[in-house]
Amino acid sequence: MPFGRQRVVGIVVELSDHSDVPADKLRDVLEVLDATPVLSAADLALLCWASDYYHHPVGEVFAAAMPKLLRAGQDSIARQIVWSPTPDAATALSSGLLRRAPRQLALLQRIHDKGDHTENQLDSEIIGWRDAARELKRRGLLQSAAVATAPASAQVLPRGNGPALNAAQEAALAAVIKHLGSAGAFLLDGVTGSGKTEVYLRLAGEVIARGGSLLVLCPEIGLTPQLVERFQARFDGKIAALHSGLTDRERLDAWRVAASGAARIVIGTRSAVFAPLPSLGLIIVDEEHDSSYKQQEGGFRYSARDLALLRGQRAQVPVVLGSATPSFESLHNVAHDRMTRLHLPERAGNAQPPRLLLVDLRAHAVHRGLSAPLMAAMDRHLAAGAQVLLYLNRRGYAPTLLCTSCGWSAQCRSCDARLTVHQRAAVLACHHCGAEQPRPDRCPRCGYEVRPLGHGTERVEETLAERFPGLAVERFDRDNLRAQSALEGAIGRVHSGEARILVGTQMLTKGHHFPDVTLVGILNADQSLFSTDFRATERLAQTIVQVAGRAGRADRAGEVMIQSQYPDHPLLQTLLADGYEGFAKTAMSEREQARWPPYLRMAVLRASDTSAEGAMRFLGAARAAAVPAEEIWLRGPVPAAMIRRADRYHAQLLIESGQRARLQRFLSTWIPAVEALPARGNHGSRNLRWVLDVDPLEVF
Ligand code: ADP
Ligand code: ZN
Repeated sequence: MPFGRQRVVGIVVELSDHSDVPADKLRDVLEVLDATPVLSAADLALLCWASDYYHHPVGEVFAAAMPKLLRAGQDSIARQIVWSPTPDAATALSSGLLRRAPRQLALLQRIHDKGDHTENQLDSEIIGWRDAARELKRRGLLQSAAVATAPASAQVLPRGNGPALNAAQEAALAAVIKHLGSAGAFLLDGVTGSGKTEVYLRLAGEVIARGGSLLVLCPEIGLTPQLVERFQARFDGKIAALHSGLTDRERLDAWRVAASGAARIVIGTRSAVFAPLPSLGLIIVDEEHDSSYKQQEGGFRYSARDLALLRGQRAQVPVVLGSATPSFESLHNVAHDRMTRLHLPERAGNAQPPRLLLVDLRAHAVHRGLSAPLMAAMDRHLAAGAQVLLYLNRRGYAPTLLCTSCGWSAQCRSCDARLTVHQRAAVLACHHCGAEQPRPDRCPRCGYEVRPLGHGTERVEETLAERFPGLAVERFDRDNLRAQSALEGAIGRVHSGEARILVGTQMLTKGHHFPDVTLVGILNADQSLFSTDFRATERLAQTIVQVAGRAGRADRAGEVMIQSQYPDHPLLQTLLADGYEGFAKTAMSEREQARWPPYLRMAVLRASDTSAEGAMRFLGAARAAAVPAEEIWLRGPVPAAMIRRADRYHAQLLIESGQRARLQRFLSTWIPAVEALPARGNHGSRNLRWVLDVDPLEVF
């Protein structure tokens, strides 16, 4: 379309035979880019629904859902050039016209005899065919045309069955199979290593045998290759992988493969929930509790898990959410019969559950974050030839640089936060805005000596190298393994046995199989115990259980040591005594009493501004613009817990209701009023930004 002086690509979502815009102001479409609709009616409806539910402009919703190149005008169907003979070709061949042009003669003869050839075929069969083809085209004997690539064979053949399922797996499988062809939401609640993936694979086989295709979501780009590999080992056929690590071209290709129906299995991260699948038969969301499913940046803050449930319901296909540590949302849905729980209570095969132990940091000698009992256990496990995994949710060398005399500490200039010491890069870095500064040798205030305080993964790695000389330590964090290839290298060294000790952040807690790890140490469980975030304890329990799940997956039993200053904390006690299930019961009843989600529906309007008052003023005006409604509670505005971040001042206004429908109704009238507020002048500055977050994961 022409748009002002520009030309832009638009998406037709609806046709109309009239317009409120005067006819002479309407512009003609310049070109129709796709001969067939890019999205099915169902996918289109899903996007429109998401736009309504998250109260976000539909154009940006489409932008998030479709490959960039598609929006830049590329065709939604892969095409290739095909060469074919013209009606004159036969006469030319028999008349001897090409006697003096043997290459042209050979090429024409071949295409005449064997039929149309694609350029790819010609490239691989005839060297230097292009000149001859050009000449033949000029003579009017050959013609070329772009035609849609015939979808690669959509056939998928099983390669063997995998292990015989145990009774719990069989029951889970049967329950979902019964629902194939109709809507149904399932929570596959199974401890780590209980064989959830095995159940997915069997379900996939069943769906494929019935002519359907399936969508598998996983939380991390790092986990997609592993999952693709497991599916590929079981099925001989095309699998499309969609994740953020692809180039625009690869993403478009994968999307086309999915859209054409050639890939019957589509595996991807968050935005793959929008992937086109012509004969969708099942959706699987692995590690459904993972916060990566919620988009927490930018404007369109959707939950891929929630949209997967909705997509399944609308498409009348079952959705299976899998986790060893289900989200409270899903447990709540189970309790209210909106979801069926399928339980895998035991590890599959011979693997034993790990033994959990609390280590009181106040009662033992602690050397640089490592307690004596943990060190002793490490000696024991390492001597037995096993690997040890240490988890610490803090990258860098130390979280603080402190003056030993006057108490000065290094602060970020742009955030209300301390700077983290990074030893190898020799800088101080802010983990909130990314700013870096050179590390001072002396206190800038009093000139006395400065020292790193506390421990990050980098420092623990250093301590381990001193304490266990000769044993290879592999550090898993964003600083060390930024590239996918680096991560794969590290995982390879763990699997080969070259690495003996693994130390890392969140990166280590997710999905990986490390069969030779028999001891897991959680270096500091305390950071989340006293957090103001209502979800902090749920997260902590999930992290502990997930890291613990890395231990002893094969035939050797695992041991897990959790270091804490507060070993008597009820959360830790409940978790150890009753497991995640018991913990969830207790923690959920606390949430219910405190009236937090999932016992309440919530949205948060976040604003930030370059002036200290702008965001609060804007939110104040937004609150004033709200028409009071029954059972709608506005709380705030309040400044964010970290008010200043990246030189912007943040604040938030909470909107709560006991009912989703009421909240939605309220937002539908209120958000347009907020949009109409003058962002400048009285309410904020020109730099004011705001965003609505429906079903937020965090409020702070
Ligand atoms: P999860 O996805 O729950 O972590 P997996 O499906 O990865 O569990 O299974 C863990 C390990 O146990 C894998 O090596 C898998 O091949 C194996 N496994 C799964 N189910 C069975 C079974 N019924 N019998 C034997 N081994 C199994
Ligand atoms: Zn900063």
